[in-house]
Amino acid sequence: MNSFFYDLFLLVEYHNIERLGDIMLLLGNDRFVTQDYKTHGYGEDYKGEHLSDIRIRGTAKVIKVVNKYIAYEDTIDYNKFLKNKNEWRDETYFNCVSITGKNVRYHQSELGGNQIELESYDNNKKRYLKIYNMAEVFVSVGDIIDSNTVIGKQGNTGLVLSKKQESDETYGSHIHFEVLDENYNNIDPREYATFIKELKYIEQTNVSDARKKQIKIIADKINIKQSPTNESANIGYVNESEVYDINGVVEDETKTWYNIKTNTGIIGFISNDKGTNQILVIEEGHDIEGLIKEVDEQRELKLIYTCEKDGVYAVRLQKGDNLYLDM
Ligand SMILES: [Zn+2]
Repeated sequence: MNSFFYDLFLLVEYHNIERLGDIMLLLGNDRFVTQDYKTHGYGEDYKGEHLSDIRIRGTAKVIKVVNKYIAYEDTIDYNKFLKNKNEWRDETYFNCVSITGKNVRYHQSELGGNQIELESYDNNKKRYLKIYNMAEVFVSVGDIIDSNTVIGKQGNTGLVLSKKQESDETYGSHIHFEVLDENYNNIDPREYATFIKELKYIEQTNVSDARKKQIKIIADKINIKQSPTNESANIGYVNESEVYDINGVVEDETKTWYNIKTNTGIIGFISNDKGTNQILVIEEGHDIEGLIKEVDEQRELKLIYTCEKDGVYAVRLQKGDNLYLDM
């Protein structure tokens, strides 16, 4: 199935469904189920107070964030979308008109609006959590969050349906929630939403160690393969900014394959296409931390950062960071 139809199917919302149960604590706040897993497939929909906080129970790592849409201004009525989608389509994007009349461009993979994907474990079994249609996301990729973390706020970005007037700023406000297992199959998310199940994140990355030659993941996500071929089975993923020891290297015509072992016990191969930088090799003795020094603003400082080799770099600067050479 191509991703466009997958997304559409996944995002169909039926908010006129009768209330299914009493208000209960769902994802950290009083909400009730508006569509259950049996009816919705893929996930469940929960309705609560617009802009209320969203939390999980336990710990998890943030592996994907979309946080660029504005609640209400960028809200797209699902029925209008269905009616206009051919006209709105622009290759992999849709030039939508929101319920406030604003032109909003959505990538086909982001029709769920502001969203987040988390990775964690339930009794050592891998789980992925997805939350869509948020008003705002407060966490970043790579963050390890816990029960005290406010992940974001319930909202109405992306495609939604509602019985309310379109002039109501809370039109279609809800949470769409999905939980996937280690093979990326959807499972019933209810016990994760009601906090019956507690998640516990296990860091799968190896420890960064300057005494060893290691690799750092630059791409968002790379499949771990059982053997060093494209046809081999996927047995897991590595994510951006994780670091691994190199247990072996296999070269073929187009790729360099690295044999790794995650801290969760997965042993397999990840690949870097030759001529690209999906994986960065960190040479032995390369003390990345040591490159960043406290500087005295009174002394003469010279801005450095001369990259000597194509595509090689040792530090990734964050917004607001400076790199100086102390003269
Ligand atoms: Zn939904």
